[in-house]
Amino acid sequence: MPRRSRKPRKPRVIKVKVAVVKRPDVRILAKVLQGYISSSETDRLAALVNAVLWYDEALLWVMADRTHLPSLQPDEFRKAIDVADKCRKRALGTTFPAEKDTALRMALERYQIVCEKIPGLPLMAPIFEAYQKQEQDLAAQQAALETRFAEGLNLIKSSLGLPLQIGFCEQCKIWLAKGSLNGCGEHSVRFEESVIRDLKVEDDRQRPRKACPDVGLSVYNISSAKELVQSIRSEGCLPVIFRELNILTRHAAYETLDQGASWFLNRDKLNALREQALLNLVEWVKSDAAPNRLVRRKGLQIATPLEQQTQGTISSTAPTKTASPSAKRIAVQKGFTLKHGTVRETIYNLLTSAGATGVPLTEIEKVVGKPNLIQVRNLANRARACNAFDIVVNNGVAILTSLGGA
Ligand SMILES: [Zn+2]
Repeated sequence: MPRRSRKPRKPRVIKVKVAVVKRPDVRILAKVLQGYISSSETDRLAALVNAVLWYDEALLWVMADRTHLPSLQPDEFRKAIDVADKCRKRALGTTFPAEKDTALRMALERYQIVCEKIPGLPLMAPIFEAYQKQEQDLAAQQAALETRFAEGLNLIKSSLGLPLQIGFCEQCKIWLAKGSLNGCGEHSVRFEESVIRDLKVEDDRQRPRKACPDVGLSVYNISSAKELVQSIRSEGCLPVIFRELNILTRHAAYETLDQGASWFLNRDKLNALREQALLNLVEWVKSDAAPNRLVRRKGLQIATPLEQQTQGTISSTAPTKTASPSAKRIAVQKGFTLKHGTVRETIYNLLTSAGATGVPLTEIEKVVGKPNLIQVRNLANRARACNAFDIVVNNGVAILTSLGGA
């Protein structure tokens, strides 16, 4: 019977595996905790979360050997772990940063007690004290950032209508924009607000933009916020809003399955959010809140001869206000103005000098070049809107008349 003698070897292999739990690297924890001294709220929370995660591995080492265990009674040990777990759950269950902060720090306190045998374990208390000493300065920094970029961020927030409202149709099992339920008007639809509720600027050296769905924020760093404001100035707000729409709806489409422990992008939600953001944008453009000029045209600095004489060349980055043609408008009739040197002005002059005889459209085309009937129609529309005059086109001849026909 030669087989029997081989059996006892197996348990030895398992014993070796248990012994291989590496001692946790305390330098990593020290670095993570240092990140708590920051003006950025999301950075402080990230520091606490990473510290908690560090302890997950540290606990394996503590449990791996009896000499690593703390000087606690077994039931006290278990209780400390339980309390830490509860605190972590509470941190996950809230979107209020201050509540998360407190809960995570309480969890860390318990872990510190349980892991007291780890040599050189860096503690939270001195870090927190150091933070409190600088807290006022850091808060002032943060407040200054928020005021500096408030206008730009508010523009994005109000034009897209944050937080976005979407609905889930229980029958069709799809997400819909609240403003367009399409075929689901009769179905039972459950509405909810997008997970991103607000925008914020923080001093983050690494990431220009980040989604923080756990605290309901989409966060810019200083350079990306600066870029946003500059782009609004040079391109106008609409192109910037469109770019932001894409980023924000992606951030807002994050969803959690395990109460905040991890997040994934829900593409079905993303579609609904995009649609809702576009609907909100259309409403905003129509409202008084929107600026008159939504896009800065690149061609605007190709000014009329008069403007070139008085202003010289205007660089493309110059604020468009200086290139604004409002000063060069001339009042041709009561309540109606025309920009000097434009095609419309030429057409107007042609029509007024021709009087009741009118001007053939072919003639107008010859004088002003390509732009033809469309320009005449535009002129007529504007004049009508201003209650100034009308243009009647008869057998290819345009005649300027008073309103209501003459
Ligand atoms: Zn439905």
